[in-house]
Amino acid sequence: MNEDILRNITIIQERINKACKENGRNPDEVKLLLATKTVPAERIKIALKAGHTLIAENKVQELKEKYEALQEIPHTNHFIGHLQTNKIKDLLKYNVSCIQSLDRLDLAEKLHQRLQFENKTMEVLIQVNTSFEESKFGANPDNAIELVKQVAQLETLKIKGLMTIGLFSAETEKVRKCFRLLKDIQQQIIALNIPNVEMQELSMGMSSDLETAIAEGATIIRVGTAIFGQRIYPDSYYWNEHKD
Ligand SMILES: *Cc1c(COP(=O)(O)O)cnc(C)c1O
Repeated sequence: MNEDILRNITIIQERINKACKENGRNPDEVKLLLATKTVPAERIKIALKAGHTLIAENKVQELKEKYEALQEIPHTNHFIGHLQTNKIKDLLKYNVSCIQSLDRLDLAEKLHQRLQFENKTMEVLIQVNTSFEESKFGANPDNAIELVKQVAQLETLKIKGLMTIGLFSAETEKVRKCFRLLKDIQQQIIALNIPNVEMQELSMGMSSDLETAIAEGATIIRVGTAIFGQRIYPDSYYWNEHKD
């Protein structure tokens, strides 16, 4: 089981390298983030010990449960799940350096208030719902630029780029459309030169579509299943919660 994790990471790295080569990209431009939802701390540690130290949870509760156990190995925590405003205070206890799932102004404002109070800053990515699916969180692509402009005025929040979950489809070209849309929005934002906004990160691509995402410019790919195996809970458990 445990050797599987490292073997699986090697396979992912080979997929990254191949996709980069085919698209004239440098593999150093693509960071591998481990999506660790439902994975016990003991299994996450195997990856951390081998030097794969960029990890992310979807729920504050899981972040909290694994926090103690993971402390002994230095690592970087991102947050990639739907964040309810009443969990902000808790999330800030667990050393998260980037929230990739910032998707609405009221969340940004409440986060800003709390960060100000704690005298902290936070890196964020703006999550965009490029597949237009009801079940997925993320700002509507038509509103994403406006949201970036508004979040840019909250000085504790440091925008570093955009995040999306592509359409779940076996049809590559439909998935590609989502990633292209994210890249297109990124380019529009860059052209606007908004103060306090950096746009270097495009977090897109998961176990099944990372090649397409890399072809379209991903700088962070988020991989769970292909490394840790199938999860017991359906993803709808994470993506389809009631909105607050
Ligand atoms: C679970 C999850 C992933 C990883 O998905 P896999 O298909 O398991 O690789 C990536 N991004 C987000 C936001 C997730 O919730």
